[in-house]
Amino acid sequence: MTRIHHINCGTLRGFPNDPNPKAICHCLLLEDKNGLALVDTGFGLAEVKNPVEQIGQQLIDTFGIIFNEAETAVRQIEKLGFRSQDVTHAIITHCDVDHVGGLADFPQAEVHLSEEEHASLMRGHHRYLPMQFVHGPKWKATSKSPRRWFGLEARPVALGFESEILLIPLFGHTFGHCGVAIQQNGKWLLHIGDTYYRKIEAISDDNPITPLTSRFADDDAQRRNSLEEVKRLARNHGNEIELCSTHEITEFPNWNL
Ligand SMILES: [Zn+2]
Repeated sequence: MTRIHHINCGTLRGFPNDPNPKAICHCLLLEDKNGLALVDTGFGLAEVKNPVEQIGQQLIDTFGIIFNEAETAVRQIEKLGFRSQDVTHAIITHCDVDHVGGLADFPQAEVHLSEEEHASLMRGHHRYLPMQFVHGPKWKATSKSPRRWFGLEARPVALGFESEILLIPLFGHTFGHCGVAIQQNGKWLLHIGDTYYRKIEAISDDNPITPLTSRFADDDAQRRNSLEEVKRLARNHGNEIELCSTHEITEFPNWNL
């Protein structure tokens, strides 16, 4: 079975008006006898070494990004005893700055994402930063599939790993934003990316974060629809599916560090 390591590849001081003082960039390292795969890559060495040149002061200030080389995926992988070359695949929820920063540290990896997200990047959507892709990622755009998963469309990601891995379209935050589902002992872990920034958004709109999430959505109506689907999964399939998002610190194992 493919083993899942939870890794934090970027710490934020929290979102504007955020009652919670800290947010993270929750990524996954999938360890399989056939290789390693990352689910999102947070911030990488380029951002840590030249943050202002790479992503600009405005974004750094908005999200309160704290750069720390020890949190990059490449350094954490080395600490676990692997080599960066062992990473054969990356699966990307979407192409925002805090999800693809480390890609340049793994130029050999095939990078899987939805074809809608890939098309938006290729069209030059203003939210994406070309600097993060100058190394020429080996894109593997995944198209629509007839496969269904708990009532949602699912796109199998063919890594040749022991556990099945699916891209689950949860569009709206960006045009091609997806969750990533990984099979584990008859259950599933679903990483929902930025479907919400904070778990409180799934309870009610009366919270300080939803206006920000709405503002950053490529299609807010679609984002709300995706959020409703995630709430339905949590309500009806809580025993079969474990959920985590990118930035909600309380969903990270042993988060109280
Ligand atoms: Zn994000």
